[in-house]
Amino acid sequence: MFAKVVLILGGNRGDREELINLAVKYISEKNHFVSGSAIYETQAWGNVAKGNFLNQVIQIETSVSPQKLLEQTQEIEDKLGRKRTEIWGDRTMDIDILYFGDEVIRTPNLTIPHQLMHDRRFVLVPLVDILPDMIHPIFGKSNRILLEECTDPCEVVVFKGK
Ligand code: AMP
Repeated sequence: MFAKVVLILGGNRGDREELINLAVKYISEKNHFVSGSAIYETQAWGNVAKGNFLNQVIQIETSVSPQKLLEQTQEIEDKLGRKRTEIWGDRTMDIDILYFGDEVIRTPNLTIPHQLMHDRRFVLVPLVDILPDMIHPIFGKSNRILLEECTDPCEVVVFKGK
């Protein structure tokens, strides 16, 4: 069984574009890559991190469980040098699972759909690039509508087109 999965990748340290490309490469070694958004640049979120983030949303197909996929993505974060110090602090690579098909998962270490995705333009803008009509399984609204309704003032600009 292959599940359609959506991930967001990003960071604000090091060679940000190269790190995103490497993360996509490592994810694609273990899963089937379907599509990727443009890469977007966004102001740091919260007041802890310094330096703008680059983010990309990708769609993959996976044969592993959500928990196993989280282990894979955390291994890749570690391999790409992320230091887990502060929440919303500086980081070379953060990988979050936005959707796992239309599953709703609430466990101590995994919340899917991702808890704050509908509040953040840096998630919704690249997401709408590739999956505008996909329906959020809790809100019952498309990603395009979630973006239209989002009040996050953060500026999200194209860094590198598709
Ligand atoms: P972060 O600092 O954003 O990378 O958060 C890391 C923690 O979030 C990890 O310990 C994960 O267990 C937890 N987590 C909860 N839901 C998700 C999700 N949908 N994708 C990735 N990490 C998640």
